[in-house]
Amino acid sequence: MPELPEVETVARTLAPQVLGRRISAPRILDPKAIQAGRELLPRLEGARIEAVRRRAKLLLINAACADNEPLSLAFHLKMTGRLFVHPAGTESHKHTRLTFCLQSEPEDEERLLFFDDVRRFGYCRVMRPEEFAHWSFWAALGPEPLETPPSAIAERLVSRRGRIKALLLNQEVIAGIGNIYADESLYKAGIRPDVQADRLGLPRLTALGNALQEVLRESIRQCGSSIRDYRDAEGNAGAFQNTFMVYGRSGESCRVCGKKLRKCVVAGRTTVFCPGCQKA
Ligand SMILES: [Zn+2]
Repeated sequence: MPELPEVETVARTLAPQVLGRRISAPRILDPKAIQAGRELLPRLEGARIEAVRRRAKLLLINAACADNEPLSLAFHLKMTGRLFVHPAGTESHKHTRLTFCLQSEPEDEERLLFFDDVRRFGYCRVMRPEEFAHWSFWAALGPEPLETPPSAIAERLVSRRGRIKALLLNQEVIAGIGNIYADESLYKAGIRPDVQADRLGLPRLTALGNALQEVLRESIRQCGSSIRDYRDAEGNAGAFQNTFMVYGRSGESCRVCGKKLRKCVVAGRTTVFCPGCQKA
């Protein structure tokens, strides 16, 4: 599933292709793709795209309607969701869930924005600004890890019950982290993923906050990790998967100490760690 660095990369690569363009002719090819706000779709006709940004693992397209009322498209890409801009006339295919025409002023070539999703777990919500507060998923999201000092990340973790990796995966504790960046940041911080968070203490948790930020920043610099079929909005793969220290490497040797990496299950997720470098 695309995590924070991948969705950030999609936002950064999508923005230059869509900013300032006007949306027209929204088309729903799969009703399941619209989780909320279907009745607002007609209002998008002529709406100008003002911003493309990310919150947690959500990609947000903010637009101003013809009467200047703001309206947002919130996409959760889940397992296999993708956003691509195509030339006018491009045919939708069996995995295309939504399409939007994008026009610019003065008129140049028309473009099409496709939301494709092979597995169909992804969704789009059309929302007025005031509706975000009533969306329980949104309202419960924890802080952004790259906008929170490592010491504050540690404070959020220090007195919670539960295994440290389970807390990192909990979007209400800290937003945007999934299996890849939980495993990689715990390795970097030298912490075993199955240890109880309230046993770690502030210094080690602050080190984890630092490690988490370093791993996320480095992945964004490399345009995210491409495992399975993640691509950015220009169709390019990320490169961070080439530098994984533990994720997906169970049974291989630790790149630092040479010990065989081990696998366990935490929070129902396959977890890989180094028994030499990571301590309880
Ligand atoms: Zn090691």
